[in-house]
Amino acid sequence: MNATQPRLQVRDLQIRLLQGHGALPLVRGVSFDLHDGKTLALVGESGSGKSLTALSLMRLLARNARWECSGQALLSDDDGKTLDLLQISDEHMRQLRGERIGMIFQEPMTCLNPVLPVGEQIAESVRLHRRLDHRSARMQALRALEQVEIPSARQRLDEYPHQLSGGMRQRVMIAMAMVCEPQILIADEPTTALDVTIQAQILNLMSRLQEQTGMSMLFITHNLGVVAHHAERVAVMYAGQVVERADVHDLFAQPSHPYTQGLLACLPGRARQQARQTGRTVPLQDIGGQAPAMDALGPGCSFAPRCSACMPVCLSQAPAWRASAAHQRMCHLEGQP
Ligand code: SF4
Repeated sequence: MNATQPRLQVRDLQIRLLQGHGALPLVRGVSFDLHDGKTLALVGESGSGKSLTALSLMRLLARNARWECSGQALLSDDDGKTLDLLQISDEHMRQLRGERIGMIFQEPMTCLNPVLPVGEQIAESVRLHRRLDHRSARMQALRALEQVEIPSARQRLDEYPHQLSGGMRQRVMIAMAMVCEPQILIADEPTTALDVTIQAQILNLMSRLQEQTGMSMLFITHNLGVVAHHAERVAVMYAGQVVERADVHDLFAQPSHPYTQGLLACLPGRARQQARQTGRTVPLQDIGGQAPAMDALGPGCSFAPRCSACMPVCLSQAPAWRASAAHQRMCHLEGQP
């Protein structure tokens, strides 16, 4: 694989929830690339399709519902050969999960097994993928706990999830995801359940691990402050679509899609900065209205009911991509992003 080839190319990913005789489109034509050593942040409100996108790449969509996925998710190996995560067999996907793609979930308490010591849970992945004996797998689990800088790692091996703090449980989740040294780490709101000081520790830890291993990371969050410090590229999702893609500095300096502009205007830091500059209190902004119901989308732009720049064409025609070199937006507004 040459240095410019993406590790993962997601193209026109569509996820539909099958209901009765119909299909509800929940993710609509999502495309992005993940590169070694780089982080792509997928941002947007709850319900915008971020987590569904991640779960579909892991083939972990809820089994109590019927789904239809189309598009491509091409994973490259070091020789440049690709395979499509959406097409391979369930057995093949089980081998890749944990081995080449790791995932960290939002709430570790619901993901860790409450009746198994955490060391056992980490070692299980190594035994499965590396076919190591019990003792060697336990040593790997210990190394993984040390790598995520958990205090008293040897003692923690035999402790149960309820004996650990929230921050330590999230470190265990990271150790589980990283123990087989995956090429891609998908982190779905990994710090949302933690207080801010622990959040910063976990995020810095993840950045350090990425530097050490060169893995690529898909970071799902609604926290733009986190994105600014921990991602190289950003894809903004709204109503199941990516509506803007850009390098992180471009996106923060010149947000181009009205939804992204609205998200950034909501940041308390921006209000504080304006207040300092003007000497007046600046009220926090919000984006009026609600995200649309996915079964009631019109033919035009899904953001139209909330967009202050909405034009007649926005109500009748879905916008196409407008692009400059590294910055793209899906919007009818004139001019390049
Ligand atoms: Fe607003 Fe129209 Fe652009 Fe949609 S297409 S974001 S409604 S200006």
